[in-house]
Amino acid sequence: MAKTALSIEQQETLFREFTNLLGETRVIHTETEEYGADATEDLCFPPQFVVLPETTAEVAGIVKLCSKYNVPLTTRGAGTGLSGGALPVFGGIVLSTRRMNQILNIDTDNLQIKVQPGVITQVLQEAVEEHGLYYAPDPSSRGSCFIGGNLAENAGGPRAVKYGVTKDWVLDLEVVLASGEIIRTGASVLKNATGYNLTQLMIGSEGTLGIITEAVLKLIPKPACKRAFLVNFKSAEQACEAVSAIFRAGITPSALEFMDRDAIVYTLQVKNEQNYPLPDYAQAQLLIELDGANTAELDEQMDRLGMVLEQFNCDEISVAESKAEQDAIWRIRRAIGEAVKSHSIYKEEDTVVPRYYLPQLLNKVKSLEIEYGFNAVCYGHAGDGNLHVNIMKGNLSDTEWNERLPQGIRKLFEEVKRLGGTLSGEHGIGWVQKSYMDIIFPEHHLELMRGIKKLFDPQDILNPGKILP
Ligand SMILES: Cc1cc2nc3c(=O)[nH]c(=O)nc-3n(C[C@H](O)[C@H](O)[C@H](O)COP(=O)(O)OP(=O)(O)OC[C@H]3O[C@@H](n4cnc5c(N)ncnc54)[C@H](O)[C@@H]3O)c2cc1C
Repeated sequence: MAKTALSIEQQETLFREFTNLLGETRVIHTETEEYGADATEDLCFPPQFVVLPETTAEVAGIVKLCSKYNVPLTTRGAGTGLSGGALPVFGGIVLSTRRMNQILNIDTDNLQIKVQPGVITQVLQEAVEEHGLYYAPDPSSRGSCFIGGNLAENAGGPRAVKYGVTKDWVLDLEVVLASGEIIRTGASVLKNATGYNLTQLMIGSEGTLGIITEAVLKLIPKPACKRAFLVNFKSAEQACEAVSAIFRAGITPSALEFMDRDAIVYTLQVKNEQNYPLPDYAQAQLLIELDGANTAELDEQMDRLGMVLEQFNCDEISVAESKAEQDAIWRIRRAIGEAVKSHSIYKEEDTVVPRYYLPQLLNKVKSLEIEYGFNAVCYGHAGDGNLHVNIMKGNLSDTEWNERLPQGIRKLFEEVKRLGGTLSGEHGIGWVQKSYMDIIFPEHHLELMRGIKKLFDPQDILNPGKILP
């Protein structure tokens, strides 16, 4: 892949080709900055052009042009990614899927939905809920992120602990390959033992192997009842210990989220929220949600949960019974990421370990804070062992930050690996995490991945520079 800027002549030729294909209104060539950034730190790589296809055929046409002129092509969903996946780091073309936002079919007989990639996740969820159905994957960004971005990142979210992540809901994908050819990776069936599983290869491939232009997703009946609780802990470590105890007692919550005190306090400040229950002694909270077919089922689960939590001296539990109360606590939880980000320059790590080892992971974070002099705010999907560690620059000088941060992150990931975990539970590797891949994978494993990339994209035009160091 040529990583140099396009000459004026190349730009003019490409502009002409793109406008012939899409018309002038769907080719953006000025003020492209907003397409050069996502939700990852403050990085920005403005692209040369942004193209806005509406159909699979148009996507195929765009890919063929990029192949013909050997130009980098980065697919972009809503740009909420946290690992820089949608950043056009070598310039070139950004293909935005925002106009591919049609729900094509809700099949209430087979419990399936067929969508274009630019459908907002929450829009999809609400559309199926009108039919009494449920699409569970719910990244905290669900009000803005697109289903295509969820597929490309294998997004998770709070409900993954009971219902699995995006990959567990996908039956079939339509994908435009680097050659411009179009494939379907699966079928609209619940079982499929037909050849290599390209559906699962595409999921989480961050736009480096192909462009997802359509998806068939599984649905289930919507759970009838829900209850949410906030549980206060005198120590963050104790909160983490309670997590695995809950599962060992045979309870599978529909969400089990950890929030340390700083994460909550920063968010309450940003949201100017006065009524949120946070006693002075609480160093951490678990947000636990139970769902089920009826209230008797929830009462029974709640009794058992109470017995587990007693072992951890949790005397104060705030129950959110009504939908309004539940929405209020989820609003705070979902706002943590943005609130922490607004507090200081930061770097977010998406660590994941077997859940029983969460206390060890937290202890390592605390010891790194002392060793390197930064503060880390922790929160996340504790039921999955998935802790978001937000390392804050605070009062460190730029030099100290730039020197110490990579060292601290490396040590953190070495511990994550020792505990049986890995670099990312749900945010992907993208641009900003790839320099840590060697901690998890030996060189021959990385070579295998490079071989796959080369097979799918011999010219290296699809989202170059991502995932692989
Ligand atoms: C406040 C906040 C909360 C978040 N909470 C969660 C959470 O709880 N769980 C979670 O998993 N993530 C979370 N995220 C991260 C982010 O929202 C997810 O990664 C989401 O899936 C990204 O979707 P997007 O549409 O914004 O994708 P983008 O950021 O636009 O793109 C992400 C990657 O997908 C690729 N891509 C996009 N569309 C396609 C396509 N059609 N075909 C091929 N490749 C494509 C891009 O090239 C890029 O590599 C959060 C982010 C924010 C800002």
